[in-house]
Formats: sequence, structure tokens, C-alpha cells
Amino acid sequence: MNRLTFDIDPIIAGQRRLSAEQALELYHNASLHDLGRWANAVSQRLHPQETRTYVIDRNINYTNVCTAKCTFCAFRRDHEDQDSYTLDHHQIDEKIRELVSIGGTQILMQGGMNDRLPIEYYEDLLRYIKSTFPTIHIHAFSPPEFAEFERFFNMDARDILRRFKAAGLDTIPGGGGEIFAPRVRRRIGIGKCSGDDWLRIMRIAHEEGMNTSCTMLIGHIEFIRERIEHMLALRDMQDYALSLDTGPLASPTCSLNEFFDDNPLVQRYPGVFAKSPPPKDRQQAPGSYTAFIHWPFQRENTPLGRAKEWDEQTYGPFDDSTNDDILRGRVVRMAGADEYLRMLAIARLFLDNIPNLQSSWVTMGPKIGQLALFFGANDMGSVMMEENVVSAAGTTFKLNEREICRLIRDAGWIPAQRDQYYNILHRHDGPGSPDLRPLEHPPIREVHKRDAQYIGAAPGLDDDDQGVKLQLPILGSE
Ligand code: SF4
Repeated sequence: MNRLTFDIDPIIAGQRRLSAEQALELYHNASLHDLGRWANAVSQRLHPQETRTYVIDRNINYTNVCTAKCTFCAFRRDHEDQDSYTLDHHQIDEKIRELVSIGGTQILMQGGMNDRLPIEYYEDLLRYIKSTFPTIHIHAFSPPEFAEFERFFNMDARDILRRFKAAGLDTIPGGGGEIFAPRVRRRIGIGKCSGDDWLRIMRIAHEEGMNTSCTMLIGHIEFIRERIEHMLALRDMQDYALSLDTGPLASPTCSLNEFFDDNPLVQRYPGVFAKSPPPKDRQQAPGSYTAFIHWPFQRENTPLGRAKEWDEQTYGPFDDSTNDDILRGRVVRMAGADEYLRMLAIARLFLDNIPNLQSSWVTMGPKIGQLALFFGANDMGSVMMEENVVSAAGTTFKLNEREICRLIRDAGWIPAQRDQYYNILHRHDGPGSPDLRPLEHPPIREVHKRDAQYIGAAPGLDDDDQGVKLQLPILGSE
């Protein structure tokens, strides 16, 4: 690894911003250990408390019918497919009841984009959930869905969002971000909204006082430069959201025309501001991005998964390649644990205005998910009662609350359940904590003797020739 051409210390201390060029330099020149150390220092500065958090929620995919044909998706179906579905209120009601019974606090509700559902389906559903389960937080409908709703209902996203908010929608998930670069999006997100539209919908949500999360999908056909540009757009638009109360738009004397003429952000992202102009009559405090989550592409059962895997000998360097197969997305560069952690650490150093970074244990597994807490993540995301989208693409990691708490505690923090606004609901530092409570039926692990060595030997059992059973807490066995 080469020495950096810039001083990282002021960036870690929050005194200076990491530029896009410097982020790229970190990717190429910093060791994974250094990146982890620096990102962890930033995470500790932003979250000095002794807890690390998680939320209990349930993914409800209300329909798998989708007008888009993303090449990385194994979940979507056409109307005529035998296993296509759309859930009714009764089915959704049952799922939420199960969630409430285990102490869950929120639903993450996303679909495919189903062109046969009228706006009343969504409004009635939101009203039904809010009136039946008033304590459940509704985190629902990602920007690509809103962009399609505009087309389906022939309405502007702002009007749809206001109606949904009045019906009970609380916050918007950052699904469908993938990579904003048009070169990439055109090839992997066929029929899905542009990066500009994704950012525009989130801009509207923030202007309307709603919090959102944001995401990035790595490890497919994207260049590293395009990942950094993706994060730069998120950081810039977060600056915009955070300045809504103090920036030019807050001034009664600033007209929209002046705002558009003078604003460098508008010049840099014209497509994000071309539609749905900001309201001058904003009543509520603005929202913002509360969390960033990234994860690697999962290839099983997906059209993109059939693409050839990149190797340097055959194709040469991947980034900014002129090789036609790479440029056209016929070759994928998959991301493993090293790549995931590297980008997590760079994201923590780069996204200085987004408070929370979540670990993606769902795609990376419990151990890398735990390690993520040392690479910039301060939150373990959700104990998911149900997940249908990445599991359709071959990822099957599942953790319950006890296991998530144990991962956090073993990493040196106190586990704490939070809500969607990152308020602590339960701090688990007593013997009644989910991971410290004795189990009524502890899972049993078989221990066998092999070559005079016990695999998993325990005190008092070493003299026994036979395989013996131990009562050990086993991660992932419940
Ligand atoms: S990823 Fe989402 S938008 Fe794309 S095809 Fe799948 S369900 Fe549709």
C-alpha cells in the first residue's frame, strides 16, 4: 500500500471533508486495517455511547408483480405467472399481528411495481394499518415505486406522497438506489426510474418533512468511481435537506426563480430539480437521510448472475475499462467480505452528514455483519421476521433478536432495541436481556473425539471417548 497524498486526521476528527478524489485514493491505496481503524474512529466520534442498536421489523412485500425487469432481481413476476401475488388487507393484518407479538415496532413494506393497483389500494391499506396498529411505524414504498405511481396515477410524486402521509405513511426506505450512474442503471435496472428521479423523490420526501434511508448496491458492473459518485450525490442532497430551514429557500425574499438561478446544487443535478419544484409554503421541519446501507449483489436465480465473472487476466483492469464486455455489463465483478468492509469504511469517512450506517448481515452473514461494527456501522439493522427479496437471490442468513444481541455484546457493546428514529426503546444490560436469558430448551451441540482431540471440547468432558452432547448456545440454531 502506498502512502496517502493527504492528511486523514482532520477528516477523522470531522474538521474537513473527504473529497471524491480522496475517497478513490483511499479505495486504491489504503489497507483494509487502516480503513477499519479510521472508520471506527469516526463511528466512535459520532456514536460515543456504549450501545449498538437494532430494530425489530418485518419486510412485507405486498406484491411481486413488477413492471420493471431489473437484471439482478429474482423476486419479480409478471401478472400471468402462476406464483405472482398481491396481498390483501387480511394477509397483511396477520403478518403485522405476528410482528407485534414478538415486540416488533415497524414494517418495511415494498413491492414490485404493480400497474393494476389503484391509488385507493395504498391509501386504504395505510389507513387500515394505522388505525388497527397505531404503534407500528410504516416505512414503505421506495423511490422507484413512487416514480411508477406517478405514471400509474398520472399525478406528481409530491401529491401522492402528501396523500400517503395523510393516510399513515411515516418514512420512506431507500430501496432501488443501486448505482445512480446512467451507464449502470440502463443495464441493470431495466424499466426502473433514473438516478435523478430516485434523488428527486427523496428530495420531495425531505421537503415534506419525511425521513428516509439511502442505499447502494455494489459488486456487479459498476466502476469504483461510480460508487463514489453515487455517495457524492447522496451527500450533496443531504446537504440540501439539512439546509432547508436555513438556506436560500427558507428566506421569504428568495423566489423559486432566484433559487434555481443561483444554486450550484441545481446546476450540478439539474435532473433532480427539473420536476416537482420545491414548495415555498413548507410548514413542517424538513426530513433527511437517517441511514445508509450498502450490500453486494446476490447472483443466484438472477439474469445478471449468468454473466461471466471478471478476472484480470482475461479482461484487464475493470475500472474505466474500454473492453466492450465490461462496458456493456456482460461481465460482473462480484464483491466479497473485503470489498464490502472496504466500502463500508469509506462510506463512514465520506458520508459525514448521514448519521447512521447499518451492517448488512442479511447478505454478509452474522460474522461479517458483526465485524461491520468495527468498520463504521453503528447499527445492526433489523431483526427481520420475513425477507423475500435477497433470499430469492440465494441469500438465506437469518438471525433472531437473541442472536443479534449476542453479536453486539460479543463485539463489546450493549445491545439496544431502537425505533425508526434511532430512539432507544430497550437497553439490554440486565440478566433478562434476550441473549442472556437462559433458554427453556437450549440447543444441543454434538462433540466428538477425533485424533485424541475433541472438537468443541469442554471442561469435565475430555476423558470421555464417546461423542458427547453439550448444552452450548449455538448461533443460528434456533
Ligand atoms: S428489483 Fe424491484 S423494481 Fe427491480 S424488478 Fe425486482 S421488484 Fe421490480
